[in-house]
Amino acid sequence: KAGLYFVATPIGTARDITLRALDILASADVLAAEDTRSLRRLMEIHGVPLGDRKVLAYHDHSGEGVRQKLIEHLDAGRSVAYASEAGTPLIADPGYHLAKTVSEAGHLVTSAPGPTAIATALTLAGLPTDAFFFAGFLPNAKTARRNGLDAVKDVPGTLVFYESPKRLAEMLGDAADVLGASRNAVVCRELTKKFEEVRRGELSELASSFGGQQVKGEIVVLIDRKQGDDNSAEDIESALQKALENMTV
Ligand code: SAM
Repeated sequence: KAGLYFVATPIGTARDITLRALDILASADVLAAEDTRSLRRLMEIHGVPLGDRKVLAYHDHSGEGVRQKLIEHLDAGRSVAYASEAGTPLIADPGYHLAKTVSEAGHLVTSAPGPTAIATALTLAGLPTDAFFFAGFLPNAKTARRNGLDAVKDVPGTLVFYESPKRLAEMLGDAADVLGASRNAVVCRELTKKFEEVRRGELSELASSFGGQQVKGEIVVLIDRKQGDDNSAEDIESALQKALENMTV
């Protein structure tokens, strides 16, 4: 069926891809990817033939020309599959401008969902998942990074950040200063890969445990909401109970 298909790809282990994603890669008229080599390699691993199709390189910030080309394919009734380098397109990855342009042009935009580091990290961190805020990558410069942390410090949900291994200790140190040294946090490293690691602790403990060592791999940092912000049904119930007990008739 004609339309743009966003295809989620693995975040570490090649077999973490859905059967439907493979079907779409096998049958799409046109293939496009953030990293053409990674997509070709993934298709090779899973025995999906490329046939005489080329893989077009597309990135949001350099892709105006390619975007128009993809629209022409859609206008001609073709199906287009797009994959980012890893995980779900548009999640800290290209695809937003493509989705916007294609939907504004009146074409179908749909997806073959699959892995994303956000959901994987939330699944195993052990922090509340009823509400969370994905803050993506914080800015590189120290002041901007601290301002970014300050902007989310009162969000009533688990905070989720993507972080580079080189900056991890510094980011944890800034988070301890801005959000409070004793806030609980979790560092998830190399999810779904051989050296997967989940380290839990207070922000200041994590900052010192990752400080002074060379950290490697891909990282998600999760930080618990500010204590006292837990509006669970039980808490509301007990607060009401307390209020009733103190009421004088
Ligand atoms: N589109 C991807 C997704 O759906 O998660 C994210 C792409 S973003 C450019 C890459 C960042 O995602 C990494 O720097 C890291 O913060 C996080 N990430 C991706 N794969 C990961 C993994 N296997 N373990 C931990 N973090 C990961």
